[in-house]
Amino acid sequence: MADSRDKATDQMKLWKESRSSQKRDVLTTGGGHPVGDKLNSQTVGPRGPLLVQDVVFTDEMAHFDRERIPERVVHAKGAGAFGYFEVTHDIRCYSKAKVFESMGKMTPIAIRFSTVAGESGSADTVRDPRGFAVKFYTEEGNWDLTGNNTPIFFIRDALLFPSFIHSQKRNPQTHMKDPDMVWDFWSLRPECLHQVSFLFSDRGLPDGHRHMNGYGSHTFKLVNAQDEAVYCKFHYKTDQGIKNLTVQEADRLSAADPDYGIKDLFNSIANGNFPSWTFYIQVMTFEQAESFPFNPFDLTKVWSHKDYPLIPVGRLVLNRNPANYFAEVEQLAFDPSNMPPGIEPSPDKMLQGRLFSYPDTHRHRLGANYLQIPVNCPYKTRVSNYQRDGPMCMYDNQGGAPNYFPNSFSAPETQPRFLESKFKVSPDVARYNSESEDNVTQVREFYTQVLNEEERQRLCENMAGALKGAQVFIQKRWVGQLMAVHQDYGNRVQNLLTKHNADAQKCAPVHVYSRASAIAAASKM
Ligand code: NDP
Repeated sequence: MADSRDKATDQMKLWKESRSSQKRDVLTTGGGHPVGDKLNSQTVGPRGPLLVQDVVFTDEMAHFDRERIPERVVHAKGAGAFGYFEVTHDIRCYSKAKVFESMGKMTPIAIRFSTVAGESGSADTVRDPRGFAVKFYTEEGNWDLTGNNTPIFFIRDALLFPSFIHSQKRNPQTHMKDPDMVWDFWSLRPECLHQVSFLFSDRGLPDGHRHMNGYGSHTFKLVNAQDEAVYCKFHYKTDQGIKNLTVQEADRLSAADPDYGIKDLFNSIANGNFPSWTFYIQVMTFEQAESFPFNPFDLTKVWSHKDYPLIPVGRLVLNRNPANYFAEVEQLAFDPSNMPPGIEPSPDKMLQGRLFSYPDTHRHRLGANYLQIPVNCPYKTRVSNYQRDGPMCMYDNQGGAPNYFPNSFSAPETQPRFLESKFKVSPDVARYNSESEDNVTQVREFYTQVLNEEERQRLCENMAGALKGAQVFIQKRWVGQLMAVHQDYGNRVQNLLTKHNADAQKCAPVHVYSRASAIAAASKM
């Protein structure tokens, strides 16, 4: 019924009503030429054939043939919105970044929420970590925090990232999701334990995008005006409160309302119910990092709030929906190497890998000049450099300014005050094996202290329900990893698996037509 329709569903009607004049524009080709007939191709007689000279047809069809750009390899399904970051607490003692320069300062932002492994058309309510990426448009260039809804990640060395993602996506032959691949990888790499435990807990199914926290996840460095540096982590906690879906509700929505997350965000903003997050930092001195019981740059671990309390900084508010999805969300490109003065990378191996991988993938997906696309353009500053030309070069390509450096003609000059902070490194260069670093202590804390009894039971049921799809030797290896975390964790999942495996045996057909039996049968012929 018309009055039960929400604003996302009514977008076409609302667009029409938003126009100041109801007079329709003249339809044109891409070249701006007015078109007389857009319903009938030019043909030789009423039955054809078509003429190549029908540029109304060729202009339309040739553009249509090129509409899709490559899908993001990860985080393909997403929702985006725009708003501002407002400073509520002074942290200039830690960072000279313009975004923190005064109380009450507002900086425009873009945020994209996403699932990780699914394709662009996949459902929003599947069990998966959620991307939570924030772009701050600052006066000294854009700052991108390419975060997630978890403070940790599956792996700690970026060299494993392509294999990890392959294992979560599709089998190379069947083109199906493959539990053997998923659990084989996780069980072979025990550093996955922490993130997998988060994933199968209640927070693995957030209720839309507004009811979850975000985390910059990596360790970064903050540098103040005196060039003093500290390590830092970023947290953004939802002001809407945490809300998760039950497994049953998430499954139902996956079929009945697969764009649930996009719709919820769109309608909330369209109705003036602007979602917000309180933004915090955790700070660790270089001396504290030396004596930290773990590697403080390990992305599979958190910094305990008790030792490194959250320091409030400001809030993120979303108050504008994208005017066009492709222009402002599909082309929205986040890159952790977008760091303005005052924010710098730490040695975090995953961050270091992403500093290369993200801009690299954007150059492939969107082109070498992707930073000129309006939604990615650092529009609060003026780009002055020696890069020129390339595909889809917009604007004036920096006109007649010199395109080489150094030069004698008053072209852009470097300024020593923008030099990165200095830091010492001394160890030997090698490929250090990080597999057997402590992979269990924080997972044990999560299992025994953060989760209550009901949450523990749901975690184990969710995990066993997914793990049962893998071969038994993989199940056993994973349960072995859980036993190292806590006997109760391992035992519960094993007991649930034993039950699942017994049920599966009962239901199994008497004669299973396997590849082995097919070969045996063939050999008798
Ligand atoms: P705290 O008790 O101070 O923090 C526990 C944290 O766990 C809170 O941030 C809470 O988030 C979060 N949490 C609660 N339920 C879940 C869940 N199902 N999935 C993910 N996070 C959840 O303890 P510590 O800081 O000492 O950390 C103890 C353990 O808590 C860690 O080993 C880690 O597993 C987990 N954790 C720690 C975080 C950190 O940055 N220190 C962040 C998230 C989890 P909220 O306050 O929003 O409810």
